Amino acid sequence: MSGCIFCRIVAGEIPAEIVAREPEVIAFLDVQPLADGHVLVVPRAHVARVEELAPAAADALFRAVLRLAGPVREALGAAGTTIGVNNGDATGQTIPHVHVHIVPRWEGDGAGSVHTIFPRHVKRKLPEVGAAIRKTLG
Ligand code: AMP
Ligand code: ZN
Repeated sequence: MSGCIFCRIVAGEIPAEIVAREPEVIAFLDVQPLADGHVLVVPRAHVARVEELAPAAADALFRAVLRLAGPVREALGAAGTTIGVNNGDATGQTIPHVHVHIVPRWEGDGAGSVHTIFPRHVKRKLPEVGAAIRKTLG
């Protein structure tokens, strides 16, 4: 994907502050960090959404997240990390190449939990939703 900014970083065509290079994954600092140490973990192969990842790419991506989460937290002296993926246009994903955000967190840093991004407009009962998902899973 020649027009994709993350593919261009993977190809070395544009600079990034790279913190890890692996056969199927790279990780670099977000250019507009939400906090010091905000890292993006990115599969080398271009796919837009998590559900389009090949199984081996998905394995490599999550393993890289596992490897990075502790060192990123320790390097910044953080208390924890928020780890998340914007997955699809409607979620606020701005770069349509899968990436996992690792954002260091500190007590009292003023940021919320994942729950705080949702207004909690729920219309359907749990059993109905559960049945719909199980039916689609097959
Ligand atoms: P998302 O909203 O999940 O698609 O996040 C995309 C992230 O990529 C944003 O946090 C941007 O700050 C970051 N970003 C965009 N361009 C670059 C770049 N050239 N190098 C590093 N991070 C970038
Ligand atoms: Zn790409």
